[in-house]
Amino acid sequence: MRLILVGPPGAGKGTQAVQLAAHYGIPHISTGDIFRHNMKNETELGKLAKSYADAGNLVPDSVTNEMVRDRLTHDDVKNGFLLDGFPRNVAQAEYLREVLADKQTPLDAALEFSLEEAEIIARLSGRRTCRSCSASFHILFEKPAVDGVCDKCQGELYQRTDDSEEVIKNRLAVYAEQTLPIIDFYRSEGLLITIPALGEVSDIFDRAITALSATVS
Ligand code: AMP
Repeated sequence: MRLILVGPPGAGKGTQAVQLAAHYGIPHISTGDIFRHNMKNETELGKLAKSYADAGNLVPDSVTNEMVRDRLTHDDVKNGFLLDGFPRNVAQAEYLREVLADKQTPLDAALEFSLEEAEIIARLSGRRTCRSCSASFHILFEKPAVDGVCDKCQGELYQRTDDSEEVIKNRLAVYAEQTLPIIDFYRSEGLLITIPALGEVSDIFDRAITALSATVS
């Protein structure tokens, strides 16, 4: 299964991505996680990415495309992959199509999570992320057992700089301007599957695998 996830920030892509990747036995490749890992380790890539990510802007395509192309050469993508957070604009989508065409491994589907703006803002501003394992929690909807502590690895939970209200607004504007056009791109490629991203995590997951099994052989 070769899959990409599309949807506004806060639609729950990361949470669903972890479960879908486990279900299909494929690696979860999150460009946001790769950037955050590099930021934490203060690599050159991390320093560059930080200047964009902290403001909610996209890291330049030349950097992001190269990073993804390299990741797709790893052995673990032989049986497929799930890309989360890439592509984020039409140029990246076209680039990915070329990289995969060269390997004769085209995408099976682009899974879109759709959600209203007011819900997105409520979700993102309450989101807390684990510094160690990147797991996501929510101060109202998905509380950790102990405040500020990750249920999975006991790591420290923090609010991402880009989850502050001002930056969220910019991320949504960037999404509307740059990322939404890829929905039409994948629709015209016959790869788009749209599912509503409202409701329980397990219900959204069921919707996703039902929709995927109906369209991907
Ligand atoms: P995310 O966790 O997917 O919301 O990504 C966090 C930040 O990483 C984004 O706001 C961007 O600054 C950067 N980023 C992640 N994926 C991409 C991408 N495909 N293209 C450009 N920048 C990206």
